[in-house]
Amino acid sequence: MARFSAFALGAIALPAAILAVFGYLSLRQWEASSELLFREQARDMAVMAAEKIEMVLLRAEDEIVRRIQPVVGGPGLTPDAVQAVLAGAPLVRRLYLFDRQGRRLFPAALGEEEAGVVAGLLAELSPGFWERGGRRHLLVGDEVILAAVLKTARGEPVLAAFSRDLEALRREILEQAPGGAEGSTILAVLDHRDRPVWSRAPLERADPVVTAPFGEAFPSWQLVLYQPQGASPREAVRRQITIFTVAFGLLLVVIVVGLVATYRLVRRETEMARLKSDFVANVSHDLKTPLSLIRMFGETLEMGRVTDEARRREYYRVITRESERLSRLIDNVLDFSRIDGGRRTYAMAPTAVEPLVREALEAFGYPLTQEGFVVEVAVAQDLPEVSLDADAVGQALANLVDNAVKYSGERKALRVEAAVRDGQLALSVADEGIGIPPEEQGRIFEKFYRVGRSETQGRRGSGVGLALVRHVALAHGGRVTVESRPGAGSRFTLWFPLRRSAG
Ligand code: ADP
Repeated sequence: MARFSAFALGAIALPAAILAVFGYLSLRQWEASSELLFREQARDMAVMAAEKIEMVLLRAEDEIVRRIQPVVGGPGLTPDAVQAVLAGAPLVRRLYLFDRQGRRLFPAALGEEEAGVVAGLLAELSPGFWERGGRRHLLVGDEVILAAVLKTARGEPVLAAFSRDLEALRREILEQAPGGAEGSTILAVLDHRDRPVWSRAPLERADPVVTAPFGEAFPSWQLVLYQPQGASPREAVRRQITIFTVAFGLLLVVIVVGLVATYRLVRRETEMARLKSDFVANVSHDLKTPLSLIRMFGETLEMGRVTDEARRREYYRVITRESERLSRLIDNVLDFSRIDGGRRTYAMAPTAVEPLVREALEAFGYPLTQEGFVVEVAVAQDLPEVSLDADAVGQALANLVDNAVKYSGERKALRVEAAVRDGQLALSVADEGIGIPPEEQGRIFEKFYRVGRSETQGRRGSGVGLALVRHVALAHGGRVTVESRPGAGSRFTLWFPLRRSAG
């Protein structure tokens, strides 16, 4: 058992502990590296998305400028022609056209707020820009304005400037942002005041993860990747750790249950092995004692030295009694081995109870009188014949009487009863012997089982007697019960169902 515990500790508990530590450490490491990896990927994705958005926007703006050019370079710059271009360019919120002197060519009138924007715009543009031409994005007030220098048919520079319509920007540009690979993150665009202009999903309960700047098409704007709360890789790993811990705990429970089961099994087997070796020793001893008695008395008689007739008869009786004991023992062992191998058969026949009881007791006549037993036999009148295997039941009764004799102390009293109780035939054998502790009463019917050594010390036995008794009772559709108190005595009762025979 100690070796088993050492084995359990060494082979299971230790590896389990090591596995738990390693599992925990690697999960921790995984947590850190997945966080890092996630951030890197998020950054790459944000940069890519910003580039893509900017590219799409620039291309759309190019297209608009390309469509304005013919209007400016044409023979007459009419508001209608400009309106026609604007109708096909929803991205343009307001378009302004100026000549080199700063005179407004379009639109005819300005709102008050617009006037401020226009003034700011013109102030921002350097003379160099007019000369060089090209395009510039400017942040004027709260508006991003694209300014482009175009040429009239006569080669005069004309400034075309337009602000963006945010709604159209969202719809036609930002929605085109790459998003398939976003996973759990949310793409958002913030303006120069960090106000969200657009996001792919609501941003409440989401935290920013990485930020990527735009190029000049979005001066001071930013693209930000958000992450909904609870969706961070760290939290995913936390969940994994929880699952791992729970699974590991379950595994441990299974291992412990398995260990306990194995331990009990091993203990049972060890106990059985011990009982078996006791059995062999006990049976050998039980065989030897009567044999040596028979031999001793036989030799004494053979030598013809015993002249006293009474003495001689006494010697003969000892020889008979001991051979009866021997055959009972051998019968028990043989029957037991038949039962153990499942080969024991019973031949039922209608049997009268009274003779059965008397015969069983007769075999003990000599030892009972010699040891000074007070024997009481109470067989109820007019008991019906019962379907029984007379030999088997006789043997069971003999075992019970044998035990009563063996386990009696000072008070030597034996009471055998046969009666109908609760519609069953009850055969009981009671003594006033040493009794059986309550906790042992369930086990005494197990094969090889004998109550604690000190109690049975000096009383030889094989431990199979009661196992046999129980088998006989069960084979008859009955059972065997015991009532016993240590120091007061025991009563064993065999119960048989009353199936009245036809005869
Ligand atoms: P054994 O050969 O040891 O008598 P049994 O199977 O007949 O084996 O009985 C099992 C154990 O039950 C005995 O060892 C004894 O401890 C206990 N026992 C059986 N009958 C009695 C009894 N009448 N009084 C006290 N103890 C008994």
